[in-house]
Amino acid sequence: MLHPFRPEQLSPELKPSTSDVQSVLLSAEQIQKRVAELGAQISQDYEGKDPVLVGVLVGASVFTADLLRCITVPCSLDYVAISSYGKKSRSSGVVRIVKDLDESVESRHVLIIEDIVDTGLTLNYLLDIMRNRNVASVRVCALLDKPSRRMTSVNVDYIGYEVPDEFVVGYGLDFAQRYRNLPYVGILRPEVYGGK
Ligand code: 5GP
Repeated sequence: MLHPFRPEQLSPELKPSTSDVQSVLLSAEQIQKRVAELGAQISQDYEGKDPVLVGVLVGASVFTADLLRCITVPCSLDYVAISSYGKKSRSSGVVRIVKDLDESVESRHVLIIEDIVDTGLTLNYLLDIMRNRNVASVRVCALLDKPSRRMTSVNVDYIGYEVPDEFVVGYGLDFAQRYRNLPYVGILRPEVYGGK
């Protein structure tokens, strides 16, 4: 199993492209390198299993698209959408599916692809739903993990990076639907979201 990298081990010295971002936590190059490693590990673990990747919209869309291309075994792709925070930067704890899978996952090996695991509430909800659908197995791959904020215990099988308790944006992650297009992951200035 891969161990998550911690950003302290890295030295991103990039200048953010917007003044709303106080610092770059993970550069585009660092992310791509890690995504390739995750893809290689997943390919090895899912050999002969024909997994279905379930990307969680919208935040994990960029990560899912990149990870998919680093997986070398036959697999399929589907998406779910979960109700989001809206303009808030903290989870309300109320989670619901707003777009379900297109195909049945019964008897399939499901790999949920998440952008970030924070309180763990979203993931626990999704895991319950998948388990109720008689899947062969269900695992989770998250680009980012914020373990310090966990409210419920949840097992994340593949983790890209562990991040500190900061509100991060970029590489698909938003605040109020903005910043998803940044190629890096950066820490949003608290003044922008009214925190911390
Ligand atoms: P959880 O249910 O684990 O608290 O929240 C998971 C979801 O909250 C993530 O999929 C993501 O959409 C959102 N989220 C949690 N932390 C952050 C963060 O630091 N930045 C952004 N942009 N979204 C976050």
